[in-house]
Amino acid sequence: MRDEVLLLTPGPTPIHPRAKAALSWPVRGHMDPEVVAFNDRVMRDLEVLYGSAGDAFACLLSGTGSFGMEVGFANLLEPGESVVIVSNGVFGERMIDMASRLGAAVTPVRFPPGVPAFPEVVREVVGRVRPKLLAAVHGETSTGVLNPVADLGAVAKEFGALFSVDAVTTVGMLDFEMRGWGVDYAYTGSQKCLSGPVGLAPAVFGPEALAAVAERKVPVASWYGDVEGMRAYWQPSDDRRYHHTVPVQLHWATGEAVRAALDEGVVARTWRVRAVAEACLQALSTIGFKPFVPAEHRLPTVLALTIPEGFDDARVRYDLRFDHGISVTGGLGPTEGRIWRLGLMGEAARIEHYQRLMTALATILEAAQLPEAFDQAVAVA
Ligand code: PLP
Repeated sequence: MRDEVLLLTPGPTPIHPRAKAALSWPVRGHMDPEVVAFNDRVMRDLEVLYGSAGDAFACLLSGTGSFGMEVGFANLLEPGESVVIVSNGVFGERMIDMASRLGAAVTPVRFPPGVPAFPEVVREVVGRVRPKLLAAVHGETSTGVLNPVADLGAVAKEFGALFSVDAVTTVGMLDFEMRGWGVDYAYTGSQKCLSGPVGLAPAVFGPEALAAVAERKVPVASWYGDVEGMRAYWQPSDDRRYHHTVPVQLHWATGEAVRAALDEGVVARTWRVRAVAEACLQALSTIGFKPFVPAEHRLPTVLALTIPEGFDDARVRYDLRFDHGISVTGGLGPTEGRIWRLGLMGEAARIEHYQRLMTALATILEAAQLPEAFDQAVAVA
């Protein structure tokens, strides 16, 4: 097996050096005072990252981003309760599937792939259905669209609904204002914008979400995903209790990844991702790639580009992977075979990584101008 493959995919991302080092910190038990103190720091850091209030509950869920999604629906909805779900891609559809399996009354509001949610359309549906919960994906990874979550949050609050946001491709790299945008629950995956290892879902419940859980009439169907059980383990008190054996090694590494993001600063990270995305777009447009999403709705962390006519997508990505050790991802669901999705989350958004991609593509495609076009665009960006 090759030692390193450069992951320029929409997740997982190249692991941050601090996270990688923390994976080999000493093993401790999940109730060990050092683990408890470390978890306390992670909670505080997550509240900063998500822009939540002090009365929120932040934690690392033991599962991937999809578990973060499931925990939200399982806790915030009881069987038969109503949820409006905005969908414009694969992850919106996953939400619809999950909430339906949990027995919720789901009303989908669908937009075509590549098109953002229109708040006025969502408003009309929420006003008619009056759901307990509105749910949306912030950055739809399958199409590279950024949804207007602040506007959707205003819709939820206007009609007294809770608001749940999938921040898997955004939090840690782009501004996220849980309190300011009226978000009651949000989650990500450790391997995305934070460049931690795969396996945890950093999540935050706001006070109204916690109140809704406290008022439930029937217990949360998922024992493992019940937020009350997690609070008993995570929340500072003299009576912390074991809930499940948390993966301490993943806590070390993800906690370090969160700290690294805060040390760099989200504003600096946003500039970094925007500069690399713009340079990629400029360089690849010289060989016929086109943006799949208009600039104003483009998700900077997953750059979706329509592949040129006659381009041998599968062969080029195969050659990149096996001749150059670079992994690049194509479309997903309705965009399969139509687009490339360049991952620019966390450590992927580095100029040197994309210089390497341009050099490899120049060889494979005999497009000698690519590295220089990229460097020029970087200088401008
Ligand atoms: N939500 C979004 C927007 C995603 O991009 C992904 C994964 O790519 C998920 C949820 C699911 O996360 P995971 O694959 O870590 O379970």
